[in-house]
Amino acid sequence: MDAIRSRQRQDFGSDPVECRETDHYQFEYIEGFVDKWDELIDWKSRAESEGDFFIDVLRQHGARRVLDVATGTGFHSVRLIEAGFEVVSCDGSPQMLAKAFENGRQRDLILRTVQVDWRWLNRDIHNHYDAIICLGNSFTHLFSEHDRRKALAEFYATLKHDGVLILDQRNYDAILDVGYSSAHTYYYCGDNVSVYPEHMDEGLARFRYSFPDNSVYHLNMYPLRKDYTRGLLRDVGFQRVDTYGDFQETYRDTEPDFFIHVAEKR
Ligand code: SAM
Repeated sequence: MDAIRSRQRQDFGSDPVECRETDHYQFEYIEGFVDKWDELIDWKSRAESEGDFFIDVLRQHGARRVLDVATGTGFHSVRLIEAGFEVVSCDGSPQMLAKAFENGRQRDLILRTVQVDWRWLNRDIHNHYDAIICLGNSFTHLFSEHDRRKALAEFYATLKHDGVLILDQRNYDAILDVGYSSAHTYYYCGDNVSVYPEHMDEGLARFRYSFPDNSVYHLNMYPLRKDYTRGLLRDVGFQRVDTYGDFQETYRDTEPDFFIHVAEKR
């Protein structure tokens, strides 16, 4: 991990569009990018655009104990703790967890963090939870179907018998079929930060993030189609999957930037 932590530059190899590996997320969230992440995702505006959507869904499902499997810099973990939920915060990236812990400390909170890759979640997480959240377009980092099924099976096993998984994703269908037109209303709320897909094909969404200081970072992701994700959730055993577009129940398919899947185990 020290080798990863100390990396100054992202490295996608000689041909970045050929870099399509699940493990590569570890090399994408380097320190500089993690530090910029909070600039990119302004917490106050993000909280305003989301409203209480996730809190309401969790309460409707009677959830109390929540596992945040994609903690990132801690936005949802912190919000949920402040709203009275009991939260354990996981992420595969030590840099992200360190930043999340620091963000918690600044708000007088001690986050309970666990560094773990989703594919082997049950190796380190032994309790069962009322809810799992996997937010901020995180599931898109898994590049093979096998990895996606493995991760979802681990999430499923970590939920109580009546638990709920909330997982979101970008509306890749719209980008692939229509083109990119995000107004960045919901998640990407920071001013002066430009986010756009530099390369798109059915197997890769390569996004470019540029910051006011002219620094540029990229993320290589798998463009999940909405119905494909819904099918996977059902395949691993979730009985009911409701999909929201940008926090609304009704939407036209090309309109939302993000889809939010609420998958019930019972
Ligand atoms: N949820 C946060 C948010 O909304 O701000 C973070 C989102 S960030 C786009 C994606 C996060 O997923 C990163 O922190 C990354 O380290 C984590 N991640 C990606 N693949 C993972 C894996 N296989 N296991 C565990 N964490 C993973």
